[in-house]
Amino acid sequence: MSDKKMQVVFASAEAAPFVKTGGLGDVAGSLPRALVAAGADVIVMVPKYGTIAPEYTDRMEHVADFYVSLGWRNEYCGLERLVIDGVTYLFIDNERYFKRDYPYGFFDDGERFAFFSKAVTESLQHLPEGFQCDVLHCNDWHTALAPVFLREFYQGLPLYERVKTVFSIHNIAFQGQYADTILNDILGMAHIPNAARQLRCDERSINYMQGALDYSDAITTVSPSYAWEIQTPEYGEGLDGILRRRSNVLSGILNGIDTDAWNPATDPMIHANYSAADMSGKKACKAALQEELGLEVRDDRPLMVMVTRLTRQKGMDLVTYALDRILSGGVQVAVLGTGDYEEPMRYFANKYPGTCAARITFDNALSHRMYAGADMFLMPSLFEPCGLSQMIAMRYGTLPVVRETGGLRDTVAPYNQFTGEGTGFTFANFNGDEMGDAVFRGARLYWDDHAAWDQLVQNAMAADFSWVRSADEYMNLYHNLHPEIDITKPEPAVQEPEPAEPVAVEAEPAAPAPEPVVTEAEPAPKTEQAAEPADDAKAEAPAKADEPAPKAAPVAEPAKKTAAKKTTASKTAAKKPAARKTAATKSTATKAAEKPAAKATATKPAASKAAATKTTAAKATATKATAAKTTAKKPSTASATKTATKSTTTKAAPAKAAAAKTAPAKASTSKAATSSAAKATAKPAAPKTTAAKAATPKAAAQDSSAATPADKPAPKAKSVSAAKRTTRKR
Ligand code: ADP
Repeated sequence: MSDKKMQVVFASAEAAPFVKTGGLGDVAGSLPRALVAAGADVIVMVPKYGTIAPEYTDRMEHVADFYVSLGWRNEYCGLERLVIDGVTYLFIDNERYFKRDYPYGFFDDGERFAFFSKAVTESLQHLPEGFQCDVLHCNDWHTALAPVFLREFYQGLPLYERVKTVFSIHNIAFQGQYADTILNDILGMAHIPNAARQLRCDERSINYMQGALDYSDAITTVSPSYAWEIQTPEYGEGLDGILRRRSNVLSGILNGIDTDAWNPATDPMIHANYSAADMSGKKACKAALQEELGLEVRDDRPLMVMVTRLTRQKGMDLVTYALDRILSGGVQVAVLGTGDYEEPMRYFANKYPGTCAARITFDNALSHRMYAGADMFLMPSLFEPCGLSQMIAMRYGTLPVVRETGGLRDTVAPYNQFTGEGTGFTFANFNGDEMGDAVFRGARLYWDDHAAWDQLVQNAMAADFSWVRSADEYMNLYHNLHPEIDITKPEPAVQEPEPAEPVAVEAEPAAPAPEPVVTEAEPAPKTEQAAEPADDAKAEAPAKADEPAPKAAPVAEPAKKTAAKKTTASKTAAKKPAARKTAATKSTATKAAEKPAAKATATKPAASKAAATKTTAAKATATKATAAKTTAKKPSTASATKTATKSTTTKAAPAKAAAAKTAPAKASTSKAATSSAAKATAKPAAPKTTAAKAATPKAAAQDSSAATPADKPAPKAKSVSAAKRTTRKR
């Protein structure tokens, strides 16, 4: 094993806080920091967009410039460096391509991101002193050509010989599909039969992502379930065949969330702070949210929220189908979002005043209040590569109701009424009645079995969705590609044993330093039970199917199961099983001064549509040419920007990513080599019913006590018939 650190170049079209339009920005903003904490050297390469805030551009240092060949062109490329939190960012500078008001949605995106990919590859020769790239980690179609260029144009140069490539799929619906004229004119690869063949996806088109899938040494996606789903025609968007062929190098690694920015104990944006040990603040948050949204302030009504793009992907067809039944059954619903289904949401809000609220806007601060104030979070996605919202909801003790797909399946453990295990309520098929049943399983539990409900909330809050777990899995993957590089984390100094007295040579080694002081978690005071529903509410609610009596056992000692709270020393403790067992109480809740939402970028209607371009995204959203037409989105901060058009790709911008301290017990899906496996065993176990369980087969026992079906069908989503579709134009 060499002493060399794993040196990773992470290429992404967006990275929070500089530029973010979606989950990719979150990942590129958080994962590199977690990788650094896991012992890697990381350089993140991002285009230097015109939208990056001066607070960053002013601090950038010019480190190199050179020219990049692109077909017959020779394009300037500058490298601008900025170091934040131990991560080096190198911004690829070319004003012709990147000095624009928003990152995507232009007629020449194919050329722009071909340039970016080539510039990233070329830049490996211009890295800071001492940085020798071991792994080039590319993300989504914008960087998909880098592994292709690397093998076709740079292979053979000693510097590139050792570079292994990883390609991560964040959403397979966006592939970068262009007319094949690009092959010659821009990529300069028409004369390379192998490349031309592997990039071609039909008679007239080439596909960037397809190229990456063939050329990369390893492929990942953002959840284990999505990893196998995309190998099926149903989810593979035409690339399932290649993915099946390359399944031996394909793995799914769950994203994490920023556990500092999303922390109910410290969140400055919510009405009252609370924690698993003291949930009283959550009640106050609920009442305040009901008041704010104009809902009846009643604790006997379960409040279910959605914070989402209002698109088909997010299951809005099911929602509009089932809302009458849900609302008339006594469940309050509040929706925050923009997109294709704004009108139906307004319709329900008008029809059920006091029971339904719709906020058609993007509002980060309100999203925090909704996560905190709700009882349930609905996410019935058609497909979901990973999904962040359900993890955020669980962190706030808001139980998710999700469809078992992609990352939702991997992160939400269904409630098992016999064991009390679970972190939410799930359903399998994309079917509005099944979704309604799942909602009422939750509502029934809320009404009828407060102890079981509280236990579920505790389970959900104890789940670990930190980036530490993901970073470890990526490190294992990198190590697989470079087994000669040791990735064992250095032991923190605090664990060093006291040196023995130099004179007295003891037979026994000096006693190790005491374990970090970790306090046994205080048994969480039993959460105050939700008030019994008022009689009228009960009357409205459907009669309960013969539900067995709730199990007492798991409820009796809620704190024991959920003792996985952390101390500042928990990272240390994580390596020590003894310390781990004591599952310390979190002592230093770092005040998470949430940053303003990262610069949310905007998609705009493309000024012109290049005849040559077409994206698979367009296919995915079914409205072909309109895919090119994306929406205007302003840089958003906490306040909402009502989009002029209905489509949006905006997402909550988490503040600083946090590498939280423990990893779940869920088995690593990466094919780690032996040394990394050893490392994995040092992870602390996750609470029994959380992530560890998430990937396990679903609990069979689910009560289905559904409400009476709606007497009236929901209005058809206007936008479904209209040709307008939301597209996440990347
Ligand atoms: P996707 O990336 O597919 O949109 P995710 O669940 O991965 O879905 O991430 C969605 C993120 O965007 C979450 O952090 C969610 O809180 C945030 N978000 C979505 N819509 C809104 C909105 N209207 N206002 C505030 N935050 C939003």
